[in-house]
Amino acid sequence: MNPDIHKDAMTPIYPGSTDAAGQRATLGVLGGGQLGRMFVHAAQRLGYFTAVLEPDAQSPAGLVSHQHIQTAYDDPAGLARLAHLCQAITTEFENVPAQALQTLAQTRPVAPGAAAVGIAQDRIAEKAHFAACADVSGVSCAPYVVIETPAQLQAVQAERADLLPGILKTARMGYDGKGQVRVRTAAELATAWAELGGTACVLEKMLTLTAECSVLVARGWNGQVVSFAPQRNVHVEGILAVTHAYEGNMPPALATSARDAAVAIAQQLGYVGVLCVEFFVVDDGSEHGGLVVNEMAPRPHNSGHYTLDACDASQFDLQVHAMAGLPLPQPRQHSPAIMLNLLGDVWFDASGQPREPDWHSVLSLPGLHLHLYGKAQARPGRKMGHLTITGPDVAGIKTVARRAAGLLGLPGLNDI
Ligand code: ATP
Ligand code: MG
Repeated sequence: MNPDIHKDAMTPIYPGSTDAAGQRATLGVLGGGQLGRMFVHAAQRLGYFTAVLEPDAQSPAGLVSHQHIQTAYDDPAGLARLAHLCQAITTEFENVPAQALQTLAQTRPVAPGAAAVGIAQDRIAEKAHFAACADVSGVSCAPYVVIETPAQLQAVQAERADLLPGILKTARMGYDGKGQVRVRTAAELATAWAELGGTACVLEKMLTLTAECSVLVARGWNGQVVSFAPQRNVHVEGILAVTHAYEGNMPPALATSARDAAVAIAQQLGYVGVLCVEFFVVDDGSEHGGLVVNEMAPRPHNSGHYTLDACDASQFDLQVHAMAGLPLPQPRQHSPAIMLNLLGDVWFDASGQPREPDWHSVLSLPGLHLHLYGKAQARPGRKMGHLTITGPDVAGIKTVARRAAGLLGLPGLNDI
């Protein structure tokens, strides 16, 4: 795709402005989760009105938006109302029906666009995009094969035994490790594929990871790109637990390669908005290891939440700027930061009894920023909020992070 396809196609929507019909500048978001909520906060702080389309009456974003259109994501009347209310529209979750974005794009600027979201929604298309950019990005994805038919499944043992042990991942609708099965043998693979309903999948070779990182890029309609330094991520049971965001969180040469690769991947997509690209670091015999691109999220990302408290522009601010056609300032991180995810498990004690977390002690810690998403019901594995710890130096924030993790029983800090 021509990266400059949108050049000059967007007249900026200035905050606080009123259009010819007397309508106040309003930005819309499809989806009402925590990412939508933090987007709404950023848009409102700048002076925009906001509208959220989300079926759940009690959604994190719907609760704080000026307007909440309570319909299904593909409801024609709901989409028409969103387009009527808003001057530009974005999405906060990648499984939004691409058709809904296409419908909205007929009358309004939509960022990111349906084509880019469609690629990120489908691991097969996503890996094809990574392969197509490999020459420019300098990184490849893990060895894999597409499994859409019984014949492709059968062929693995004879032709791609190198992919075992591996991870079978559904091509669509996976998140937080859902829709993934780890398999060691061809027999386990066959069982896993049947368990996943024989749906389109990719079988990826299981790599030995020395680390994981991600890069947030924001790209405007005119092709301007800014990015954050890579953050190092620790996952526990397939879900992000900890993000380390400070200088020295990974070898500088790898950080530069990851950032360059993410920018190239966004450019080649002709992407508009905030894109997060996730990478694995693997031991390839070189001094610092090699990078493998894992997947991309066409939206702000959990691993970028620290930008709210540690940077002069957050990933949500940049999403607002990008979609509204405002200039994109290069963000600057002013404090080292560690982000700890708060899953619903924190609201239960060791015997499974509900409990109220010890906020009094947690909130007494220096440089600690608590973000709760307004979800009424805690369930194990459900993302309820996060903590960001900032401070003048890395040793200090590590100490505070360990204390917070101890008070709340949070995992993922063994290595600091
Ligand atoms: P997300 O919540 O980021 O959307 P997801 O469900 O889409 O997650 P992946 O990012 O593909 O899933 O995988 C989740 C985690 O599982 C990775 O962050 C990594 O820790 C592990 N993992 C995935 N693929 C591999 C692999 N090929 N080799 C080793 N570990 C892997
Ligand atoms: Mg992932």
